[in-house]
Amino acid sequence: MNASRDAVAAFRREYRTNHIGPHYRGIAHACFTFGIGLSVIAYAVVALQDVRALEWLAVPLTFLYANLSEYFGHRGPMHHPRRGLKLVYERHAGQHHRFFTSDCMALEGVPDLKVVLFPVVMISFFLLCFALPVGLLLGWLASPNVAWLFVATAVAYFLNYEALHLIYHLPESSVLGRLPVVGKLRRLHQLHHDPRLMAHYNFNITYPIGDLLFGTLWRGRGSTRSGSGPGSVDVPTRNTS
Ligand SMILES: [Zn+2]
Ligand SMILES: [Zn+2]
Repeated sequence: MNASRDAVAAFRREYRTNHIGPHYRGIAHACFTFGIGLSVIAYAVVALQDVRALEWLAVPLTFLYANLSEYFGHRGPMHHPRRGLKLVYERHAGQHHRFFTSDCMALEGVPDLKVVLFPVVMISFFLLCFALPVGLLLGWLASPNVAWLFVATAVAYFLNYEALHLIYHLPESSVLGRLPVVGKLRRLHQLHHDPRLMAHYNFNITYPIGDLLFGTLWRGRGSTRSGSGPGSVDVPTRNTS
């Protein structure tokens, strides 16, 4: 075991002792996230009435908006301390990135879901302070159908984010992580977990649209260095300081 793996193991012990309470239930956390999310999507879909062709545009536009929000949220406050958002920085850069590095990507038990899934309080915040007011505004400015399509697409995008990110942090042997497209996306996230790269590359957790648009996509050099283990990554020569 090398020094970086020792550091991750030590941090994991400290995190589990100090941040995962005896009453935390990872399965309940996942059921809450996906249960609430799927319920909101179902409610929004049932509320749709005679959607016109132009109204369907709300789906790709919301998808793109969510992708860029994911990109800038991750590139900004999740990796740079900002006034009022220090908790977001601490939870992501200070905890998630120390719990998982490119050499140690897999969680080791159900309680470790705590460091992968968004906290329940943040999901409630997302629904009440983001999805609800923007949906109400779109319902007033455009139409109720546009509002419901926005809510359904935004929540579906969030669940897709949570599911993909969880799959990236399952053990290497997991079938889900080896699916063709998922495997490629997982590799991009693994590169992002290299401490030398995390503040510079691969900020999209889902689909690298923002990274492609803003020149921060790093695919690695195609292969791991011989003798350095399956989790090793190559780093670009530019802009990693
Ligand atoms: Zn991660
Ligand atoms: Zn990150």
